[in-house]
This record gives sequence, C-alpha cells and structure tokens, in this order.
Amino acid sequence: MLTANNPDRKTWLSIPDSTDFPIQNIPFGVFMAEDDIVCIGTRIGDYAIDLSALHQYGYLDGLELPDDVFLQDTLNDFITLGRPLCRAVRNRIAELFDRENQELQSNTEHQKEILFEIDHVQMLMPVFIQDYTDFYSSREHAENVGIMFRGKENALMPNWLHMPIGYHGRSSSIIISGEDIHRPKGQTMPPDAQKPVFGPSKRLDFELEMAFITTDGKPLGESIAVGEAEEYIFGMVLFNDWSARDIQKWEYQPLGPFLGKNFASSISPWVVTLDALEPFRVQGPEQEPTPLEYLQNDGPKGFDINLQVYLAPEGGSETRISNSNFKYMYWSMAQQLAHHTVNGCNINTGDMMASGTISGPTEDSYGSMLELSWSGSKPLKLGNGEERTFIQDHDTIRMTGYGQKGSLRIGFGEVLTKVLPAR
Ligand code: CA
Repeated sequence: MLTANNPDRKTWLSIPDSTDFPIQNIPFGVFMAEDDIVCIGTRIGDYAIDLSALHQYGYLDGLELPDDVFLQDTLNDFITLGRPLCRAVRNRIAELFDRENQELQSNTEHQKEILFEIDHVQMLMPVFIQDYTDFYSSREHAENVGIMFRGKENALMPNWLHMPIGYHGRSSSIIISGEDIHRPKGQTMPPDAQKPVFGPSKRLDFELEMAFITTDGKPLGESIAVGEAEEYIFGMVLFNDWSARDIQKWEYQPLGPFLGKNFASSISPWVVTLDALEPFRVQGPEQEPTPLEYLQNDGPKGFDINLQVYLAPEGGSETRISNSNFKYMYWSMAQQLAHHTVNGCNINTGDMMASGTISGPTEDSYGSMLELSWSGSKPLKLGNGEERTFIQDHDTIRMTGYGQKGSLRIGFGEVLTKVLPAR
C-alpha cells in the first residue's frame, strides 16, 4: 500500500506552497550537514531529514532494517533492500511527519538532531553508480538528429521502431548538480577541412534526459520481463547528458558515442521513487509496428513529468529555452530494462539508465541545442538580447522537472551545471 501517496495528508513542518517536495514525495538522497557528517536522508519542503538519526532514535522500529543501512555514504545498501522495504520506510516517514502524528512533532530535542535547513546542507552523489547505460528512446529526438546527421531519407534507422536503442556509457564522469564542468577538448573534422583538428569543442550541448536507478536484478543469464521490470526500478533523477556535437559527429561511426559523450553527465541530487510518481502514470505513444512479444507493455508505462531547460549567461538572468515532457518517450523504462536484460545481461543496485534526449513534437520542446538551433542555423534569443547556437563558456544550464495533478505536485528540484573554459 502506498499510504505515503495520500493526497490529503498534511505535514506539521512549515513548507512552501509550491514546493517540489510535499509530504507525498519523500525522495531519498545523501547530504553533508554542517558538521561534515555524511547523512542519508529525505526531504520535505526545505528540510533535509537525517534518516540515520530517525533510525537511531527508534522512529523506524519494526521495519527490520539492517542497523547500519543509513550509516553509509550512498543509498546503495538501502536500495538493495528492494522496493517493498523501501516502500515501507517511505510510508513510515510520511506517517511520522503527518500533522496528526505527535511522536516527533512533540519532541523538539530530537528534531534538532534530525532536521536540517536545506540551505545549510551540501548535496552529494546519492548512489555509487556501477554502470551507466544511455538509451535513445524519444522518437522526435531520433528523427531530428537523424535528419541533421544523415538526411531526411535515413532519419530513423530501420531498427529504431523495433527496439529501444542504447549504448553503454561511462559512470566515472557522472556528477552531481552544482559541480562545474570544463569545455571538453578533442578531435573534430571541421566542415570543408581536409584533415581533422584538435582543440576545444565548438559545439558543446546539453541533453535533457531523465534516468532511472535500478535495484539488484537477476543472476547473469536470466532476463527481466516487461511486466516485472518496474519492481527493479528504485527511482528517477533529472539527467543532463553533456555532449560535444563536433567530436560526436566525427567519431560516432561505426561504433557509436565515445569522447563526445563521456566527459560529463549531471544529475539532480534527490532520487524520486517510482512509487511517488504513480499518480502521473500515463499511456505512452502508440507503438506501430507492434513490438516483438518480449517488448509489449502490459499497461500504461509512461509518466507525465513536465521538464524545463533554462540557460543563464554569466551574470545574466536565465531564459527558458525548452519545455518538454517525459511522456513523449516512445519506449518505456520497463521496455528499456526488459530489452537490456533479454540477452541475459545482469544489472546491479545503483545502475543508471538514462532515457536519451527527450524532445517533444513542437520546436520549443526540443531537448538539445542541436535541435533547438537546428544544427546552429537558427540562433536562440536570450532574455538579455544575446544569441546562442551552442553553449558558451560561463553559461549555466538548469533543468527542472515535476508531475502535477490538481494541487499535487511531485518534483525533482533541479540539475544545474556551469560550463568553464577548456583546461
Ligand atoms: Ca544522451
């Protein structure tokens, strides 16, 4: 039972009206409090809540949690417990912060040890990411890029409508929101050049994506079916898959993305559980031709999550440059995970599977500068009068995301990254 999702529940904490983190969210993350101690926690409104302190004071008694599960630097041990136990913890947290509940509400001494103002903590990487896979599951994005790279005739590769296309990325360069990146350098073949050149990328881009984080899967050699796939998905984050288009274009054939992609990907710090996103479940796009049987969804597997991208030049205010939605994804997360494991590939706790750039049907819903500026041919106007085709040094990209149903809003906060000049 998802009692934590009760939309009528109110918390005794004082929280902003429009917060991404009402008591119905209860995401999980890792933060450093003022005393430099790493805490595994959750968030309600603008409070970070230390779960190890909650556990230590007995507020989670009866849940059969390992003693040290919250005395870790990452969520991995917690995620390994599996979705039913994580769900029970989330339900218990909701109950404890319900304004009808006096247990912690009336104990101000304990509150001092458990609650931290969000501005006074530093968010850390929530999970140790063992493996990172990037899919390519937005049809609009695949078609747009296909047209630009290969022409209209070959926009969508013949396999694209039959399976979720993906590649194995690199987890070592996945970073947390707030960490700056340097413009990557690499080898490119400029238009009309006779031989390649080396230098800073001239076509640095973001990719608006979301990523899901898995629990432990099945032993090597076994597969996860579409119908059971969501039980192996712990939660989701916002994901900015930084890309250097000029490096990518020169290197990507025949084996696919490499140095144009693996220099950085940024994530939002709070992992929003799939349980919390349940109210936003929707049917995905119709799939024609019907996929092979192992890829057939057995119900609605899409999620209606509004996504925005903002660009801020150095010292200037930000301009919203994209407004997309996770529901545009052609292939669902369940289909992606089923496909990923259909050959017997195993997955582990903390694996990160990104959606691929999420572009919608309209020009203002494209999820990358490559598409928004149509390969540099249509500069975007910023609020301060400047123009952009790709990302310049000292620009900051911020992505936000939330589901909204009536007055219920479940959000992800943000993933924000500033680009510094090449080293
Ligand atoms: Ca990507």
